Amino acid sequence: MLELKLHQKHVDKFKNQYPLIFKEAIMGNYILDQAEEGTLIKLTDEGGRYIATGYYGLQNKGIGWVLTQNQKEDIGFAFFQRKIYMAVEKRLGLYNNPKTSAFRVFNGEGDGIGGLTIDFFDGYYLISWYSKGIYAFRNLILKALSASVQADGIYEKMRFETDITLPDDGFVEGSKATFPIIVKENGAKLAVYFNDGAMVGFFMDQREVRKALRDSYSKGKNVLNTFSYTGAFSIFAALGGAKKTVSVDLSGRSLERTQEHFRLNHIDDATHDILVEDVFHYFKWAEKKHLTFDTVILDPPSFAKSKDFTFSSEKDYPDLLAKAIKLTVNHGTLIASTNTSTFDMDKFKQMIGKGFQIANARFEILETFQLPKDYRTNRFYPASDYLKVIIVKVLHKKG
Ligand code: SAH
Repeated sequence: MLELKLHQKHVDKFKNQYPLIFKEAIMGNYILDQAEEGTLIKLTDEGGRYIATGYYGLQNKGIGWVLTQNQKEDIGFAFFQRKIYMAVEKRLGLYNNPKTSAFRVFNGEGDGIGGLTIDFFDGYYLISWYSKGIYAFRNLILKALSASVQADGIYEKMRFETDITLPDDGFVEGSKATFPIIVKENGAKLAVYFNDGAMVGFFMDQREVRKALRDSYSKGKNVLNTFSYTGAFSIFAALGGAKKTVSVDLSGRSLERTQEHFRLNHIDDATHDILVEDVFHYFKWAEKKHLTFDTVILDPPSFAKSKDFTFSSEKDYPDLLAKAIKLTVNHGTLIASTNTSTFDMDKFKQMIGKGFQIANARFEILETFQLPKDYRTNRFYPASDYLKVIIVKVLHKKG
């Protein structure tokens, strides 16, 4: 255990259960350069009084996570077992749902261990390790998971830079899955792959938004899905009775994966266009052609860099939204989404307002969504509440 002192001005933050350990908070933090990730850290105030215990692990944010504020708590098998067991218990109502067979079982700092997520896909569990530091606890966590759930099989995924390549799509134990694993979400089928980069084929955290799209904003509509990835929103729009959908994504892979999703759901893709194209180019082209849509979905990544454009949602979201507004019919619907954790819902609402100002249009907020319940957040760490979705009615001014 490495004992580190907190700068006095940061002590209250950690006393108030802030979970993310950050470099500037720590006195003599150069000591950490010699430490191995996974080392347990005891945080104290300048006088050496105990504040919290955590682990050292480098992620894009922070240098580790607090695990407990109880000095006597041993960070061993029983600790991980209890955390995982408690997390599973909170999701018991989600198992054996004939309509939805994929959900998050363990959500990092929201469930008390930053850097670790565990997802359930129709009997199979996928553990994602977000740092070398949390990976150091691999065996304990695996044992704790096996003891807490009845898994068909357990898989793992490295979400940090490493030379370790995992055989068999990250298979760990139990029986192997055949890929894609076909899961259900509110009755629709989605294909899941564990060997296809960081993402698995769909973003489960948008579950409620897809349902709202299908149930309220699709029937008879002409729908544009931008940054469409594997077309999950398009599938729900089609299932909701959309007249036509257009999916736009830059990645070549998105084409076959979106086609696969249409096939899986027995939707004839003749009336559904899938374009492998830069959304920024598409917006220009569509505006020139005076194309309009009844429902537009805007779900860009926090940062995007293509050949001709760079986009940062923090800076450029209003401009992007303004372009989407121009393609939306009067009284049409815009679904604006962001997963950028550096601003909150209030700020996002302001950004939406700014986008409408730029487009010289008005709007009415119809619904907002944040993370679903299985994506538990940490109330002492607002950034864990990253998802913000605002559904608005577009009101164009006359003339
Ligand atoms: N909305 C999707 C998830 C989007 S993930 C869903 O709910 O499933 C972000 C996607 O944006 C990726 O598939 C990536 O290929 C795409 N992307 C990034 N920059 C882009 C650009 N300039 N034009 C089109 N697609 C882009």
